[in-house]
Amino acid sequence: MTWRAEAGAATHVGMVRDGNEDAMLVEAPLYVVADGMGGHQGGEVASALAIRTLAATLRTRRSGASGLIASIEEANAAVYERQQLDRALAGMGTTITAAFLDDDGLHLGQVGDSRAYLLRGGALRQLTDDHSLVSEMVRSGEITAEQARTHPQRSMLTRALGIDKSVRVDAFDVELEDGDRVLLCSDGMTAIASDDEIADLLRAGDDPTTTAEELVALANRVGGPDNTTVVVLDISEDPTTATAGGGSS
Ligand code: MN
Repeated sequence: MTWRAEAGAATHVGMVRDGNEDAMLVEAPLYVVADGMGGHQGGEVASALAIRTLAATLRTRRSGASGLIASIEEANAAVYERQQLDRALAGMGTTITAAFLDDDGLHLGQVGDSRAYLLRGGALRQLTDDHSLVSEMVRSGEITAEQARTHPQRSMLTRALGIDKSVRVDAFDVELEDGDRVLLCSDGMTAIASDDEIADLLRAGDDPTTTAEELVALANRVGGPDNTTVVVLDISEDPTTATAGGGSS
């Protein structure tokens, strides 16, 4: 079975920030969101360099979740080495949430607090765990998910690309169903909108591009305090490879 995705994406600087340090890639079968951080141009450099490195190394690998992990490790090394060379970029880093589509389904790789969600049968499920201080506090029961969204230290990451020589990457596979809708997004989306608000827009059934624009508009309508980036994927079986009624494929 081969899967295809109709993709829509949007990114916006928001209503407060001067620059957009988020970056994204929509280049079938690879879809990525990265949220950079760091002074000067560091954030923009980190997110763009990480995505470029990931895409370039994955192109030579293309082997499921393990290939994705290795490519994200390469991206980590590239950002780390770059800031060793350029003092002005010291302290930069980036999140990364990458989705790679192949015959097995969806492979996800992630570091940081950008997220992947799956909308199936009208229900929204967060696929990734945030690597952030507040999400650890939620997991340990110290605070609620609602409190995490307004916590003063909500942007404190416990894992990011480019900070250390090596990084631990979360990677896993998602079995797909026809009609699945996948969302990748930076925290500019999830810090400002609840899962219910996000699910409502995803369920409305507009095409992926319109949906992505509506999600970004929602974040900006409620203040747009951060850069917001979203990628929406509508998953379907490739009709040229789907088997019909047990017949030939
Ligand atoms: Mn952000």
